[in-house]
Amino acid sequence: MKTDFLIIGAGFAGCTLAERIASQLDKKVLIVEKRDHIGGNAYDYYNDDGIMVQKYGPHIFHSNLKEVWDYLSRFTEWNGYVHRVLARVKGKEVYLPINLDTMERLYDRKFNPEELREYFERKRVRLDQIENSRDVVVSQVGEELYELFFRNYTKKQWGVYPEELDPEVTKRLPVRFDHDTRYFTDKYQGIPKHGFVKMFEKMLQHKNIPPVMLNTDYREIIDSVSFDKLIYTGPIDYYFDYIHGKLPYRSLDFKLETLEMDKYQNAGVVNFPNDYDYTRITEFKQLYLQKHPRTTICYEYPKAEGEPYYPIPKKEYQEIYQKYKREADRLKSVFFLGRLAQYRYLNMDQVVDGALNLFKSI
Ligand code: FAD
Ligand code: UDP
Repeated sequence: MKTDFLIIGAGFAGCTLAERIASQLDKKVLIVEKRDHIGGNAYDYYNDDGIMVQKYGPHIFHSNLKEVWDYLSRFTEWNGYVHRVLARVKGKEVYLPINLDTMERLYDRKFNPEELREYFERKRVRLDQIENSRDVVVSQVGEELYELFFRNYTKKQWGVYPEELDPEVTKRLPVRFDHDTRYFTDKYQGIPKHGFVKMFEKMLQHKNIPPVMLNTDYREIIDSVSFDKLIYTGPIDYYFDYIHGKLPYRSLDFKLETLEMDKYQNAGVVNFPNDYDYTRITEFKQLYLQKHPRTTICYEYPKAEGEPYYPIPKKEYQEIYQKYKREADRLKSVFFLGRLAQYRYLNMDQVVDGALNLFKSI
């Protein structure tokens, strides 16, 4: 078999590059995908009850990058969903990230922005340096809210307390001094109107892209394909046969349940920082704005082993990754891109941005 580009993985990284290369360079692109579907972790489908669900947990597109938004918008319209997350704490449901509304519900009193600033000024822990994910939170809002929202949730999600994780993990959640209850304030957000997979299918609809080789680990075919360049979006340590050791990932079990009711919960996602073994429940109908007499929900149970979902942001693992990166940099015709190949906690828009930039440099 002959192709110009061989791409491993049909997620955001692989599909974006395939589309660009096929349509702009007029080169043949063969995509090989281990799973039985395209879309990577953003894969969605109608379940037996006719409800659109996501196989790998809630994925909401959000970005401030106009180029990325405009690019994807060529392949899909968006449903206009605005993501909101409630956390169930102290018998109440309050919005995250922490904002005026959260504080008012939590403490049954009014706050104006100035009062909230003063409140946090009294509560916050003064630190010379922010060294980990605990520091990020306590230095802004103090111990009490840290304990309430972050400490135990993070232990469940990552298997370690926030002290042991790089600052970037909890930095994902800002603190707001207004009544904005949205989870993301990005200019562009939503879910593809007909689902992520329909968008990916459209991206791959090109004469230079033959049907994706599904259910195939690239190692099974690499010796029988002749290609000029390889783009790899799988785990980088696997590519190099774990020569520098295994990079750890956090994994999840997803438990889906269909219920005989129209609506199950008060937001698309509800987090449970301190109770249960699961971290959160997603109600897909709310994300997809779907009307249906029944509803499907998804519980997320974090675990150490299993499919690699989350690279773990810790210095010691970054050091191992850097060793792999040096190996990767030596290979002139192989490009590594995406959450697994770059071993970074990247959002979908960052991956597309990375793909568009890599394309420009190829
Ligand atoms: P992936 O989607 O992982 O695609 C890589 C593909 O390569 C996979 O399909 C895999 O099967 C394939 N592959 C791997 N190894 C091989 C091999 N040996 N041979 C052949 N194929 C192989 N981001 C957001 O922006 N918003 C969100 O709301 C959001 N929510 C998330 C929720 C969860 C639970 C998780 C886990 C992630 C979430 N993300 C979210 C992140 C998002 O999933 C990633 O940014 C995105 O999937 C990265 O795309 P990718 O192409 O790099 O990787
Ligand atoms: N987090 C937390 N409590 C919450 C929500 C988030 O402690 O209720 C922490 C947790 O460590 C999580 C991180 O903040 O991994 C980032 O949250 P985000 O929602 O961005 O994670 P995602 O699900 O997108 O990976």
